[in-house]
Amino acid sequence: MIDDTFIRLGIFISILAIMIIVEQAFPARQLSTKKQAPTKTTRLIGNFGIVFISGLSARLALPIGLTGIALYCTQQQWGLFNLLNLPSWLTIALSLLLLDMLIYWQHRLFHKIPLLWQLHKVHHADSHVDASTGLRFHPLEIVASIFVKAIAVILLGVPAFAVILFEVLLNGFALFNHANIRLPKKVEAVTRLILMTQILHRIHHSQLFKESNSNYGFSVIWWDRLFGSYSAEATKPDLEIDIGIKEFPDAKDNANLLGLLFMPFKRKK
Ligand SMILES: [Zn+2]
Repeated sequence: MIDDTFIRLGIFISILAIMIIVEQAFPARQLSTKKQAPTKTTRLIGNFGIVFISGLSARLALPIGLTGIALYCTQQQWGLFNLLNLPSWLTIALSLLLLDMLIYWQHRLFHKIPLLWQLHKVHHADSHVDASTGLRFHPLEIVASIFVKAIAVILLGVPAFAVILFEVLLNGFALFNHANIRLPKKVEAVTRLILMTQILHRIHHSQLFKESNSNYGFSVIWWDRLFGSYSAEATKPDLEIDIGIKEFPDAKDNANLLGLLFMPFKRKK
């Protein structure tokens, strides 16, 4: 069995490092300097701490991993693609597209269903969006998501290579579109025809419901355009969008690791 963990981790760390360097050189927005705001360190320990715990939780919940499931399904000839016998390039392309569409709809459901929103709001409560926000997902959301993907891999018979490629791309795009950067105007105008750009995804992180209820895609922009959730601009300019969730103000308790882990179980004041 191939162990893709190290390959994935290597690519992930490389993309993260590039994003952090570009964010430092050309930041799009500044971190809040309000008195009650979390310090840079508190926020980063929280965001990186939760990705570590989430990664570990996913491993424990599904020790065989998505790649292991995919290999087993190929062996047993389970799932749609194993029955269809399409050329492998087509199977891989369709697998990537269908998994990406699934993640788009999963994201919409995490906003729509109140119980799921309790988990996903941990991601949205970040009052500043940067590459580390792209990693900040509650462990229970990550575990739920890995089971959703596992079911899709079984039903579709997604080959292991496509699973690895999809996971690498999904993580890479999450780091890219959450990065605190702004692409040059002309580059951005062309990029947003295909991909979710930082400016577009910051609209999804707005405190206004109308705006956060848009731009759900993680990689390509097509799903938002196809399913009517595309939003080209917010009511405020990119620099002034109020990011985060009103009920979780810019406070240390809402940014440290314990605060993030217990956020879904906290009662509203
Ligand atoms: Zn969201």
